[in-house]
Amino acid sequence: MPFRIIPVTPFQQNCSLLWCEHTRDAALIDPGGDVAHLLSIVAEEQVNLTKLILTHGHLDHVGGTAELGKRLSLPIEGPHPGDQYWIDQLPIQAAMFGFGAAESFTPTRWLKQGDVVEVGQLRLEVRHCPGHTPGHVILFEPSEKLAFVGDVLFAGSIGRTDFPGGNHAQLLDSIRNQLWSLGDDTRFVPGHGPMSTIGQERATNPFVADRRFG
Ligand SMILES: [Zn+2]
Ligand SMILES: [Zn+2]
Repeated sequence: MPFRIIPVTPFQQNCSLLWCEHTRDAALIDPGGDVAHLLSIVAEEQVNLTKLILTHGHLDHVGGTAELGKRLSLPIEGPHPGDQYWIDQLPIQAAMFGFGAAESFTPTRWLKQGDVVEVGQLRLEVRHCPGHTPGHVILFEPSEKLAFVGDVLFAGSIGRTDFPGGNHAQLLDSIRNQLWSLGDDTRFVPGHGPMSTIGQERATNPFVADRRFG
């Protein structure tokens, strides 16, 4: 499955463009901003953008959604309804972080545990991973063992839980139950910073690595 990671906004959030190599249908995961730049890369890859997929409602992940959705009449899939309050508060988030105006929107389809998001012939599995936000989801492509995990897990770190609705114990549960079970050889694209693998984090991530006793 071809994909490109495109860091956007002053937060260097990893927006991903992925596409089906058979149909060339494409999706943007977490189009947080820099819409003109995102569209230039879509054009460069000569793919047909068919939907926007969201992991959670934070501004740096969804800030470009309303504009893209309207301009291109694209459906918006995700996040889980637990993040509705973040999406409703987008204009306030934008003021708080000194971003330009960000518009709120209503997802075409809210996602829940076990849902499947289709992009051409690709099938992305949805797992609900609350903790960083209540409605955070991750997307997993099983044939290539590639996951897009937003702000749940990073190379060497984990998501913040000090925002309203954050819950540290719940985040650790999400990582251990929903991410470790993807398998050690699963590669993942985090919301910020470099890619890693589940096995690497499980062995070395100081916040959540398996503890060895004795
Ligand atoms: Zn976040
Ligand atoms: Zn983020």
